[in-house]
Amino acid sequence: MIDLRSDTVTRPTAGMRRAMAEAEVGDDVYGEDPTVNALEAEVARLVGKEASLFVPSGTMANQIALWCQSERGGEVVVGEGSHSLLFESGAMAALSGAQPVVAGRGGPYTAADVEAVLRPRTDYHPRSCMVVVENTHNWSGGRVFPQSDVLEIAGLARDRGLPLHLDGARLWNAAAATGLEPRTLCAPFDTVSVCLSKGLGAPVGSLLSGPRALVARARRVRKMLGGGMRQAGILAAAGLYALEHHRARIAVDHAVARAFAEQMASSPAVEIDPRRVETNIVVFGIRGRSTDLFLEDARREGVRLGVIGPGRVRAVTHLDVSEGDAAEASGILVRLLGR
Ligand SMILES: *Cc1c(COP(=O)(O)O)cnc(C)c1O
Repeated sequence: MIDLRSDTVTRPTAGMRRAMAEAEVGDDVYGEDPTVNALEAEVARLVGKEASLFVPSGTMANQIALWCQSERGGEVVVGEGSHSLLFESGAMAALSGAQPVVAGRGGPYTAADVEAVLRPRTDYHPRSCMVVVENTHNWSGGRVFPQSDVLEIAGLARDRGLPLHLDGARLWNAAAATGLEPRTLCAPFDTVSVCLSKGLGAPVGSLLSGPRALVARARRVRKMLGGGMRQAGILAAAGLYALEHHRARIAVDHAVARAFAEQMASSPAVEIDPRRVETNIVVFGIRGRSTDLFLEDARREGVRLGVIGPGRVRAVTHLDVSEGDAAEASGILVRLLGR
């Protein structure tokens, strides 16, 4: 089976499993797990923030960032289709009591788009309270937020006193695609969440990074949400291993995704512009047949794909999909669509 549903489906490699088995551990709720402490320090260094907190998922990292920086009855600016809007089970409203407002169209947005949705300061409007940028932007097909736009958005947020959070689940992909260092991409943000379990190929884990005082509060919220873990060094070891051994190869996933997209574009039944494939996510439409039936046929032929909206199919390249696998998959899919 060639599984292109998500970059979360990777399984730990033999080297990663060895690092996990050999990890030095302690009780992290007491702050005594040396491997967790090492991972938190390493990620803080990479993203250029004072401190980091290891949490079980990217959703928890984003939600703690929202908890600490938004307000009840407030409005959080997000891009269309963003993860915190669509794929976190309504947690922003349920946990922080804030509501999202969408800036721009198609995912990445500009400072002018933010300006257009900020509310006047009255007693009856929701309070604009925070801005979230997702880089890369999953739903739009892994698109990279132009850094010039990020800087303008950051300037506006600063002027209005709004905290700025980066959902950097795929920060590593944005760095590979732009050639910019993670810390450069993160510099305009107050807080940053990153995932170890996407392109980096670790089994579990995300980190929330930011100012030391905020991360100290975040540690308390993590415990409140049930995210305090004990000998979590087993998991942190996988993350450290991934950062050291898998970060550099992310560019390979991007090349494989582009080649896959070009092959898919050879089918007249596929709606796709391969030039818009910037990272490891390929989103395309299917003409003239049901998406569900197409996915079912593909699965029977050994290719698994995801759906991220009506008629929108998602294919994601990752550590467990070789160039040959992706070529085989696109060959199968193009043949299926030609029938
Ligand atoms: C995967 C992802 C997350 C976090 O997802 P979890 O499954 O909770 O780890 C957050 N943001 C984006 C953009 C993602 O793709």
